[in-house]
Amino acid sequence: CDVRSIIVLLQENQLKRDDIFIIGVECSGVIAEHTLASGKESPGELDFDEKCKACRPSTPRLYDYLVSQKDQKDKGVLPEENPYQDIRKFEAKSIEERFKFWQEEFSRCIRCYACRQICPMCYCPRCVADQTMPTWFSRAPDLEGNLAWNVIRAFHLAGRCIDCGECERACPVGIPLREVNKKIEKDIKELFDYEAGAGVDQKPLLSCFDQNDPEDFIR
Ligand code: SF4
Ligand code: SF4
Ligand code: SF4
Repeated sequence: CDVRSIIVLLQENQLKRDDIFIIGVECSGVIAEHTLASGKESPGELDFDEKCKACRPSTPRLYDYLVSQKDQKDKGVLPEENPYQDIRKFEAKSIEERFKFWQEEFSRCIRCYACRQICPMCYCPRCVADQTMPTWFSRAPDLEGNLAWNVIRAFHLAGRCIDCGECERACPVGIPLREVNKKIEKDIKELFDYEAGAGVDQKPLLSCFDQNDPEDFIR
């Protein structure tokens, strides 16, 4: 996922290809923090991080030098057959249930902005959350402002989030932020067959237009 974030930063002209030398490492997945905390060490007991179960391929998509781990690759995480299974289950709930779930989750947000600070794609010199002329939404950690903050950030990451899972890991109150990003990622994949960080030659999703787009959303 590190290389995927580099690819998006290259696409968005935040990095120059000639300025960086990428040492790629074939990745067999990282062990979930809860497994590390449990002290389990034998291969059968190890659980991999959720983000790694949805990640493929194991060889970075862009590198100048590759550190190969062929002997480790087959011992690593097995890709999920359906990485969006949980999202589909959630989508099957009523709109009231889904709204209630996210209201409860976002009501716990303390607006520490750790999710933004750790995100490789949140590099704006002045984030919308810090602007005061005008102020775009309440800066107080109340439900209205929290909903606005988290929805706006999710939209700003649409087609850009590379599912590194760091926002969720950094959130001190344990809000399942990755689920928001995965839902948008799934819709973008299904609607536009687009995957963030797949290749440096692809145009960023929100800066391109297809003349044959059926534009089904216009009614
Ligand atoms: S998973 Fe979170 S931290 Fe990582 S790119 Fe997506 S929004 Fe940013
Ligand atoms: S939340 Fe939006 S405005 Fe703020 S840093 Fe991230 S992308 Fe930029
Ligand atoms: S890291 Fe969690 S608590 Fe902090 S602003 Fe982000 S969602 Fe809210």
